[in-house]
Amino acid sequence: MLVTGGAGFLGSHLCARLLADGHEVLAVDNFFTGTRDNILSLLDNPRFELLRHDVTFPLYVEVDEIYNLACPASPIHYQFDPVQTTKTSVHGAINMLGLAKRTRARILQASTSEVYGDPEVNPQTEDYRGSVNPIGPRACYDEGKRCAETLFFDYKRQHGTDIRIARIFNTYGPHMLPDDGRVISNFIVQALRGEPLALYGDGSQTRSFCYVDDLVDGLVRLMDSDEIGPVNLGNPAEITIAEVAKKVIGLVGSGSSIETRPLPADDPTRRCPDIGLARRTLGWEPKVALDDGLKRTIEYFRGLL
Ligand code: NAD
Ligand code: UDP
Repeated sequence: MLVTGGAGFLGSHLCARLLADGHEVLAVDNFFTGTRDNILSLLDNPRFELLRHDVTFPLYVEVDEIYNLACPASPIHYQFDPVQTTKTSVHGAINMLGLAKRTRARILQASTSEVYGDPEVNPQTEDYRGSVNPIGPRACYDEGKRCAETLFFDYKRQHGTDIRIARIFNTYGPHMLPDDGRVISNFIVQALRGEPLALYGDGSQTRSFCYVDDLVDGLVRLMDSDEIGPVNLGNPAEITIAEVAKKVIGLVGSGSSIETRPLPADDPTRRCPDIGLARRTLGWEPKVALDDGLKRTIEYFRGLL
């Protein structure tokens, strides 16, 4: 099994899960946002191999299945070098699809709820075509991921490539970077340090947060199923960001205050997955409630800090 982005947040958990299932795993990563620390416990496993490689360059290895996760996922990281972000999604997809074509491997793309942009319908179903600003600061990520989905379906139509596409909604848990920039890790780190929590905008925007173990289970089920997708994977429990801030302060037992900051451009106002397709075709739904997942994530960051 090849996992691109294998040293990242989701990739490291996926590698651990695949090893636990008895597979041989090759993790490929350029360490832009991933770290060796995330996979330290896997490095001694004789069925695990790590390769420093940038997926924007071709890769020649022999594999049966490819999980294509390589791409920074946090807005601050994917906007740091937006041209490289688009290259990673587009050239990365072409290279990994080329590898899948040559080896006849099944290939799963880690797509995203960002393909829906700032959605006009809530919850989002897979047939909703999205509302993306093609020239905004999030476009390098959103349009790169949309183009990758196009490439996956064109490789299927043109070359018969065996594809799977997961549209992943906000996921959180251990192995996020303390300076990752995404909301759950930011709030937990700020609460643990007793610093004010930085709430962007008035906090009325919503997200739906999925714990990492649930998400990884969904990815594996999709890879093993006949459904090709796109399939939404996420937790449909929708919550405002202001509520998340209060919840984190409560669970940490912190004296932190909440300070508002300007809302970043094109920040989606609502986001919630319709997971009917995943329920029907994969028999999958999230099991970990937000409070429980937050407690586990808080313990991880407490240890780290
Ligand atoms: P992450 O930033 O922790 O992991 C991404 C990994 O890809 C990192 O290890 C990074 O070093 C690596 N990478 C980046 N560019 C690369 C390149 N050119 N070549 C090789 N490796 C490269 O992010 P994550 O949360 O683990 O996300 C993993 C995947 O899931 C991404 O494709 C992301 O778009 C997708 N996704 C994640 C979420 C989420 O909430 N976590 C939501 C939607 C989609
Ligand atoms: N957000 C926030 N404070 C932070 C980081 C993010 O209020 O320190 C907000 C952000 O504006 C967005 C939501 O939390 O409305 C989720 O942001 P994140 O970057 O985690 O994910 P995305 O916007 O890609 O869903």
